Amino acid sequence: MAPRFSPFDASLWHATAEPAPATGVLEGETRADVCVVGAGYTGMTTALELAKAGTDVVLLEAQETGFGGSGRNAGHCTPTFTHYSLANLRRMLGEPWAERLIARQTRANERVGAMVRDYQIQCEWVQNGYVMGALHPGGIKVLREKEASYNAVGARTRLIDKAEVEEITGSPRFTAGWFHEEAGHLNPLSYARGLARAAMQEGVRLFTRSPVSGVEQEGGRWRVRTPNGSVLAEKVIFTSGAYTVGGWPKLDRTFRILRVFVAATHPLSEETRRTVLPRNTTIHDGRGDIYVYKYNAEGRIVASMFPMGRRGQDIAYTKQVMTDRLKWLHPQIREEIRWDYLWFGELDMQKKTVPRLYGLAPGVVALTGLSGRGVPTGSMLGSILSEWALGVPERELSLRVEPLREAPLYMLFAPQLSLRYHRALDNFAARRRGSEALPPHA
Ligand SMILES: Cc1cc2nc3c(=O)[nH]c(=O)nc-3n(C[C@H](O)[C@H](O)[C@H](O)COP(=O)(O)OP(=O)(O)OC[C@H]3O[C@@H](n4cnc5c(N)ncnc54)[C@H](O)[C@@H]3O)c2cc1C
Repeated sequence: MAPRFSPFDASLWHATAEPAPATGVLEGETRADVCVVGAGYTGMTTALELAKAGTDVVLLEAQETGFGGSGRNAGHCTPTFTHYSLANLRRMLGEPWAERLIARQTRANERVGAMVRDYQIQCEWVQNGYVMGALHPGGIKVLREKEASYNAVGARTRLIDKAEVEEITGSPRFTAGWFHEEAGHLNPLSYARGLARAAMQEGVRLFTRSPVSGVEQEGGRWRVRTPNGSVLAEKVIFTSGAYTVGGWPKLDRTFRILRVFVAATHPLSEETRRTVLPRNTTIHDGRGDIYVYKYNAEGRIVASMFPMGRRGQDIAYTKQVMTDRLKWLHPQIREEIRWDYLWFGELDMQKKTVPRLYGLAPGVVALTGLSGRGVPTGSMLGSILSEWALGVPERELSLRVEPLREAPLYMLFAPQLSLRYHRALDNFAARRRGSEALPPHA
């Protein structure tokens, strides 16, 4: 049978991350106030916040720290929402939920920065901002709306003109751009391992290679079982995301998997680096069929895209697409581009692409459905989940607690269709506006 998830050890981060703290397998029975399941950003920041508040926490991980999206993502940390404008989000979630979640998400990088600083996490963290480009004047309206709506909730962003986009990113292709100065980027696996170390330092008992196989009630508490042991806890929090394996019936149906890939070049020459992303920012090329990229600490471009047709299946072709996009955006690149790493991962997509908090039973919740924006999001979710575990009334939380809901079947193909639709729109807009088209297969 094909492995359920993409290989973990293929990534640049696996090759370059700081070592993980030593952890062991859960053996025998133990007790805790709270048992958290899944050592990604969401689970680790939850455990960390709870331990800081004096709670006795056991954190159980099926594989190793950061095995899920948290150890293999691209490392962009942009404190915004994907897919939805803030106005849409308000309509979709209603108040007070929308305003609370918006406040947490847009301030998430302050948390990331504080954790990196307070626990001295070595993870290549830089906070030089993010640019979303507009390839033609028709794209400026959306960026203007972003500027107004995000600034209204306290973010520091601004619309920038063609000259400034070129100055910041080194790309002459854009008509304008949206600059979010609080955005950052990092080495995601180093960050995950640093969070694990921080949580352990605060007293969290973290066990790896300890997959939760089931949870059952026992004398008013919950018995959380793994192959070699169990935890008797008052409260249980599932944060197993796209990589959910068992644990609770139907939890892995609350989302549908969408695969995404990331590739990293060889370390680029000084000459190229002087003119391509000279300020070490993150850039989104403004297309619906996205291409997002940044440097790692060694000066490799790390870029991500979604598979589509041959792209993602045929690796040589996929690398050619990545090169063509990069060179189209930066015609000044003279050196040959080699993609040393290319790896895949899974996203937990659901209909409303914002995190969903499910009440599974009294004292048991699960949070899934980050839908692709997880570095800032997972980092701030710990504050919400820890509040739930500490007894903050549900009506005061920043996420509504709802019954477990299976993601509709059409989510299996809807995100792919939406990507294709946006690609067609991008191409149509480029032709109509007379902008120079991408190379044929890029
Ligand atoms: C390739 C890729 C690129 C991405 N790029 C970005 C990006 O640049 N910026 C961004 O913001 N987001 C990005 N994301 C999304 C982001 O990485 C995720 O949303 C985020 O890491 C999810 O964190 P999490 O803690 O919720 O879950 P995860 O990190 O997936 O952690 C869940 C953990 O639970 C464990 N688990 C599962 N079942 C059990 C069980 N039964 N018992 C015990 N443990 C269990 C898993 O092994 C896993 O370690 C990307 C994702 C991918 C895959």
